[in-house]
Amino acid sequence: MDFIKERILENVQVLLKNEKVLKAIEFIKEDDDRTLKEHLELCEIPAPSHDEERRAIYVKNKFEEIGLDDIKIDEVWNVMGTIPGTGNGPVIMLAAHTDTVFPIETDLKVRKEGNVYYCPGINDDTRAVAELFTIARAMKTFGIKAQGDIVFCANVCEEGLGDLKGVKHIFEYQNSIDAFVSIDNPVTGGIVYTATGSHRYQVTFSGCGGHSFADFGLPNPIHAMGRAINMIAQFQVPKIPKTTFNVGIVEGGTSVNTISASCSMLVDIRSDSSEELNRLSLELKKAVDLAVQEENKRWESSENVAAEIIMKGNRPAGTQPKDCTIVKTAWEAAELLGIEPELRDESSTDANIPISMGIPAITVGRGGKEGKVHTIHEWFEPADAFLGPQKDLLLILGLAGLDGCLEHRIKKL
Ligand SMILES: [Zn+2]
Repeated sequence: MDFIKERILENVQVLLKNEKVLKAIEFIKEDDDRTLKEHLELCEIPAPSHDEERRAIYVKNKFEEIGLDDIKIDEVWNVMGTIPGTGNGPVIMLAAHTDTVFPIETDLKVRKEGNVYYCPGINDDTRAVAELFTIARAMKTFGIKAQGDIVFCANVCEEGLGDLKGVKHIFEYQNSIDAFVSIDNPVTGGIVYTATGSHRYQVTFSGCGGHSFADFGLPNPIHAMGRAINMIAQFQVPKIPKTTFNVGIVEGGTSVNTISASCSMLVDIRSDSSEELNRLSLELKKAVDLAVQEENKRWESSENVAAEIIMKGNRPAGTQPKDCTIVKTAWEAAELLGIEPELRDESSTDANIPISMGIPAITVGRGGKEGKVHTIHEWFEPADAFLGPQKDLLLILGLAGLDGCLEHRIKKL
């Protein structure tokens, strides 16, 4: 990524000439044990998407203990707290999500073997929530105020079923955020700068149903769905912007000798381009309509098959130039601490929402080593885990600016 290195002559390195910043960086390392303790406490609080209240309360208490300003829990259980800036800098939100993919009844007792901790959700994104604490604590301990406000946010509903509800809510009701950083990547130096959008649909085909022999001649919902899937399988999509489609689940049927009264399928469409997302969604609707028509025409019965399409997920798409300010700043912050920066593949994160609105946003990596994410065998090893929050402190200060040291790089809108 030489093109990025060449363009970063006025490096965020100057931040390390500031005594308070240096002390804060050192503090995060010394604070590592406390961060781990908080991290493990959070792990044992269940928080499936749409059920994050318990974690929200823990985070709110922690924000109060740290001494953040304007602490609040909003209508959907996002928790926010601010370190106000000194002047006319941009408002930077630093976020991590509280929800996990694990149902409420999952055993969340943390288990330790050697230096490795096991617990479902221990990394994604619980570790990052704890990193918010240590970054905020470091800034408060040394009285660091950026030029712009830093808003710390533990948001809800990032995972699949949550459909980014937490961050959607934030950007619907607050127009003061100038840049957004989510900590939610398994690679410490990872930087996600594109927003892969997705549209998810449940398509249900229904008819009156009957006996396969006695009522033969009735339009068949399963046959109609088969016709639709045949058309979907032939969709044409571009390689760039990467666009994909998938029929992921099919359900329905009563017995081998029953014309089923209903069946359904779940369809996932993804793209880095919102035009492609919308185009494919339209294609899907056309395919379903045509499949129903063809099935009904085949039998010309007085009973017809019908289809209903329900949108189950909507994550908007968008992208930014690779060398935009927020990416460069994250790159420099990582390099400065000897972490290898890495532009990560397109994916869908909380940053989708601001990126799709044209607001600078990225998703960056957590500290420590991790694996088996989204399984009950998820593990975390706190090896040099403090590097993650150290990097993100430099990142947010680089974006928000620090008086007498570095002018803010993000424009205040
Ligand atoms: Zn996550």
